[in-house]
Amino acid sequence: MHRGPTVEVNLDNLAYNVRFIRSEVGHRQIIAVVKADAYGHGSVEVSRVLVREGVDALAVAYIREALELRDAGFSIPIIVLFDQEPSGEIVASKLTPVVNNIRFARELSRLSLKYNNPIDVHINVDTGMGRLGLNYREAIGEFKEILTLEGLNPAGVMSHFSEAGIADRTYAMLQVKRFLSVKEGIERLGVRPVFHFANSAAVTRLPEAYLDAVRPGLMLYGCNPYSSHRVKPVMRVSSRLLDIRRVGKGTPLSYGRTFITKRDSLIGVLSTGYADGYFRSLSNNAEVLVRGGRAPVVGRVCMDIALVDVTGIAGVSPDDEVILIGSQKGAIMSVEEVAEKASTIPYEVFTSLGIRGRRRYVGGA
Ligand SMILES: *Cc1c(COP(=O)(O)O)cnc(C)c1O
Repeated sequence: MHRGPTVEVNLDNLAYNVRFIRSEVGHRQIIAVVKADAYGHGSVEVSRVLVREGVDALAVAYIREALELRDAGFSIPIIVLFDQEPSGEIVASKLTPVVNNIRFARELSRLSLKYNNPIDVHINVDTGMGRLGLNYREAIGEFKEILTLEGLNPAGVMSHFSEAGIADRTYAMLQVKRFLSVKEGIERLGVRPVFHFANSAAVTRLPEAYLDAVRPGLMLYGCNPYSSHRVKPVMRVSSRLLDIRRVGKGTPLSYGRTFITKRDSLIGVLSTGYADGYFRSLSNNAEVLVRGGRAPVVGRVCMDIALVDVTGIAGVSPDDEVILIGSQKGAIMSVEEVAEKASTIPYEVFTSLGIRGRRRYVGGA
């Protein structure tokens, strides 16, 4: 039987989540974020479902990711969020780069003239994220210059929230206020690009930021830890045991002997470790599901192996399916719980486990 983790991606739940987002945002466009291989879910397979569900555009981080989608046959607009490389591929593959500084806008204009082909661009305005984009105070002036650049069509203007959670709306609302003032200034110039701002958290918590289009990522993949809004989990990660060992009370387990059994125990040897994206910080910390029960991770997580205490699980067998993320017989191990135990966020759990595991797709017919 196959060992090592299997990442099951439920495409029906993905489709459900898109419909859910659509029901929240109404007529607004949906720009679906599929960067980092669709948060570890597989960007080609995921995008197929997203396009079928009628999203208006896809967004990736780098040109390379966009080309992968073009190679797979997608003709939908693809927004490239971060790359600032004036590559001929932008024209050849009809990509939509995001302009994060005026220098890149000038380079794109030259690129456009060279190929005699206009380029749609979206312009990012930094309203307080402090990462990329035109400073909101200077955005109007720079936007005016962009309008004078030949070959560029400013099709969109965007900003990004500094908080993925928006637990406290104060700072997010300040960012919205800054963006709305930029929007007003731009509209006074007589142009009407598509304005977009809302990440997943804003889709559920900040309708003020819906504007013309929303730009969710995490929520598509069925995670919204900051809201009671119901989306369905898309990723399920399972593994198998290599062995089940009977050990006496007082037995030290794994590297560094950080766990010593307090009773005669049954220890399952799980064929998954930190090389698979199952964080070492889950040592002596997380739990997995076996036969619908919870088995604690005991001792240090190793590169390809972790130990789990299955003493309390009746009838446990080496061929049992072990759930790292997902549900089993009514029990649930959520990505939020694993993230919290690993002192990280669901995003990192998805990308770590998803990208490295062997993927299997279900549903989506
Ligand atoms: C990743 C990203 C998003 C999506 O954010 P979620 O919190 O996953 O919804 C949207 N916009 C930009 C610019 C991003 O980098």
